[in-house]
Amino acid sequence: MLKVRDISIPKGVLNHLLNQQSKIDIITDYEQKVRLSKTLWQNKKKSNAQKSAFNRIEKELQKIAIGSSGYCNYCEANIGTNIEHVYPRGLFPGKTFLWDNYLWACKQCNGRHKVAQFAVFESLNSSKRIKLVKDYNFIPPPNDDTVFINPRVDNPMDYIKLDLQSGLFQIIEKNANSRAYKRAKYTLEVLQLNLREGLIEDRKKAIKNYFVLFQNYLKIQNADSLEVLKKCLTDTNYRLANVSLEFEKSRLSLLFQKSILSQKHLTVWKEMQRQAANLEVLKTMFDEFPEALKWSY
Ligand SMILES: [Zn+2]
Repeated sequence: MLKVRDISIPKGVLNHLLNQQSKIDIITDYEQKVRLSKTLWQNKKKSNAQKSAFNRIEKELQKIAIGSSGYCNYCEANIGTNIEHVYPRGLFPGKTFLWDNYLWACKQCNGRHKVAQFAVFESLNSSKRIKLVKDYNFIPPPNDDTVFINPRVDNPMDYIKLDLQSGLFQIIEKNANSRAYKRAKYTLEVLQLNLREGLIEDRKKAIKNYFVLFQNYLKIQNADSLEVLKKCLTDTNYRLANVSLEFEKSRLSLLFQKSILSQKHLTVWKEMQRQAANLEVLKTMFDEFPEALKWSY
């Protein structure tokens, strides 16, 4: 999981969201807020204007999703299909039409795993969790101090680390009573990131894939003539412009960078960068082309 990058969305779309949210905010009774939030959300594409605003929101969310195909911001394996509220709207109606509360997620993460699971810390400086159930029986949550790592605000890589051998996430913080440890553990549990069999296998494949991509890339960078370069590219559709070796290398460098950043499981690539100094095999690769340490989405 990665921190979602910030983008600015059109003012008209933001105003539409503000307008919808104000209808909920004006109500004082919490239960009524929750009920109205549900109705407004279900009807969010009713008129043509509403439809166009929400189609645009979905498009913008796909831009900040993982890879070029709009992979889910949580599992990074499945193509995203819907707008996910990080803070569930059934518990936090005040965040129903809030751009900063949206992510692009897949059906599995959104509908089967996270659903409306959410927990907050009892109070600031406390590491005691309060699990909120859906609608919290129409009792307003005591605060919004989330236990679940919020990729719109937090950097999940500060909390969890991917083991590049096993494909499993590890909790960085060792003190099991700390907030950081509890946040990491709860997020991994809610999304079942270490338990979904297919997901671990898929992550391991991604690790191999990034290695192969990067090694191919290094072969290209080390080519000392256009002839050698041509041989490296026989399996691709890439056509050399036959200008100069340096020109082709810089063109290919950009293409590879784009290709690497458009893959699923981008967290794997970020971990390869982060662990470059500690793992010999990575160190050797990145030492040959340190520029790739900066490739980021
Ligand atoms: Zn997912």
